[in-house]
Amino acid sequence: MSRERWLVPPGVRAALADRHPDDIAPFARRKEAREVMAADLERLRDLQERLYVDGRYAVLLVLQGMDTAGKDGMIRHLSSAIDLAGAEVTSFKTPHSAELRQDFLWRIHQRAPARGRIGIFNRSHYEDVIVVRVKNLAPPPVWERRYEHINAFERLLVDSDTVVIKCFLYISKEEQRERLEARRTTPEKLWKLTPSDITERRFWDDYMAAYEDALTRCSTEHAPWFVIPANNKWFRNYAITRLMVEALEGLDLKLPEPTVDPESVVIE
Ligand code: AMP
Ligand code: MG
Repeated sequence: MSRERWLVPPGVRAALADRHPDDIAPFARRKEAREVMAADLERLRDLQERLYVDGRYAVLLVLQGMDTAGKDGMIRHLSSAIDLAGAEVTSFKTPHSAELRQDFLWRIHQRAPARGRIGIFNRSHYEDVIVVRVKNLAPPPVWERRYEHINAFERLLVDSDTVVIKCFLYISKEEQRERLEARRTTPEKLWKLTPSDITERRFWDDYMAAYEDALTRCSTEHAPWFVIPANNKWFRNYAITRLMVEALEGLDLKLPEPTVDPESVVIE
């Protein structure tokens, strides 16, 4: 099953170099995925409604990845199926000064989805062991302890009936170059290109090392990490939608007991 292909097995090194951002298995070409993708979006729509009326569980999708990896595009794809009334997207930016006076999970916990709802994190608490580590925004003893804090925090969410799905959108350095180049040379895309996109790219190897450690140390039975091959946007959309559908199907969501006997009432 594909899920196993993308999973970082708990206790096993994530080894990004051995994984392939171009992978599109089980397909050989895009058009083979068309039907299952349409069916999955339909299924997700139905499952979200059940999640909402069932009211026992929450779902949290964590999206991480380098600039241009496709976090926004992924959210756009899901938005064609997900009802906004039962979901919220949170984009985590550089913490502002009030946030920096709290512990690093404070702002994250506030955005955790309530029962019945889907929460999508565009970046997350993982930035606190990724960008913070790569750019030396906190000393090593501070970020070193965070892996354990993160595991305990996610354990709390899971114990409180939240399903946590964590996806690293894995693109190659060459693919990022092409996407940044497209931003640079397309007037309608130029606004998306920021000075930091250009500087952060220089730290690519450091980012990969930081990601590899985070994926390895924080892929747990209760909140596993998935490495999603993301050089192909359609495949990234397929894979993450599939994981969402599988997770929701695993919950045995129920429609509420009827409050009327349909045979004994007459709608006038
Ligand atoms: P973007 O996703 O392109 O809108 O950029 C958001 C920026 O916020 C990225 O450069 C992130 O690295 C940065 N960011 C997010 N969370 C943190 C954090 N906890 N500490 C420092 N920078 C962060
Ligand atoms: Mg950006």
